[in-house]
Amino acid sequence: MKELLKRTLFYGAGLFAWVGPLFELVRRFSGIDIFIPFYHIVSNDEVLHVKHLYRYKNVQQFEADLDFFQENYQPIRFQQLYDHVFDNKPLPKHPLLLTFDDGLREVYDVVVPILKAKGMPAVFFLCSGFIDNQALFHKHKASLILENSSYGEEKALGESLSSVKYSQHESLDVLAEKSGLSFQEYLDTQPLYMIRQQIAAILDDDLFAIGAHSIDHPEYPLIPLEEQIRQTRESTQFVRQTFDLDYSTFSMPFHDIDVSQDYFDAILGDDIVDISFGIEGTMQEDFDRNYHRHNMEGGSYPARNMAFVYYIVAILRRLLGTHRIRRSRLAV
Ligand SMILES: [Zn+2]
Repeated sequence: MKELLKRTLFYGAGLFAWVGPLFELVRRFSGIDIFIPFYHIVSNDEVLHVKHLYRYKNVQQFEADLDFFQENYQPIRFQQLYDHVFDNKPLPKHPLLLTFDDGLREVYDVVVPILKAKGMPAVFFLCSGFIDNQALFHKHKASLILENSSYGEEKALGESLSSVKYSQHESLDVLAEKSGLSFQEYLDTQPLYMIRQQIAAILDDDLFAIGAHSIDHPEYPLIPLEEQIRQTRESTQFVRQTFDLDYSTFSMPFHDIDVSQDYFDAILGDDIVDISFGIEGTMQEDFDRNYHRHNMEGGSYPARNMAFVYYIVAILRRLLGTHRIRRSRLAV
């Protein structure tokens, strides 16, 4: 969403979200039966590898979001969703499943202590290739390059770096080298992602579950079907085996709207993944084990305003007939 539109919606229309009965009304007619917020990071600091990608919430804003969730929804654990999907167990009224992507260290340092204090369950999705800080996400590289560039360069670079793709990893490395930036040094001195011991420690509390988020975060529509399946299968197996899990869950890096039906047939049909997640939270999905989530970042908008706007958009989509995700089929 463009910045101005986003601001108008989340601050303008979002104001009506505070009218209690109106919120209930749009929630009821939205067709969204389980609300699944997703975040990446919560921090009071300027996090350089994220700074130029999207705006994230600070601790106070995040805690206010959690208060809203706990007052207006019934937060569930991943296991409850799993039992619902596989054993038909009912979910509570207005269920909410909190999720985080990318496995950033702030999950361990900042998010988990807050969630524990509030008794709030969550699922954390990890890129298997980034665990233990073995590699750097191309978008995080782009943010660091922008941060490191001089004022004049920044504008010219900004646009091209904001649309940088997975296949341009090498160009990013060259660009960094030219400006005297060492990604390896950054990873060594300032670990970005969680390490195995931290992830294992999170799992000691049964409020929390983990899943995979691909090996190294490619844009799925831009890679071949076989590579999409490999990224999902290998990352999911790695997470499942490394942390001795009895479930497999996966969240799609970026959007999955342009990912084919063949991919979902393969990963859900062949039981590579039990439950997967996308981010088309205002749309309706044909695959009943692919759940869609709602982005809670991109500004400091309160969760109430954002949820209200997502409900309205979902209603408008249904009225306009644009709510169904139509996936292409590759195989004949
Ligand atoms: Zn991600």
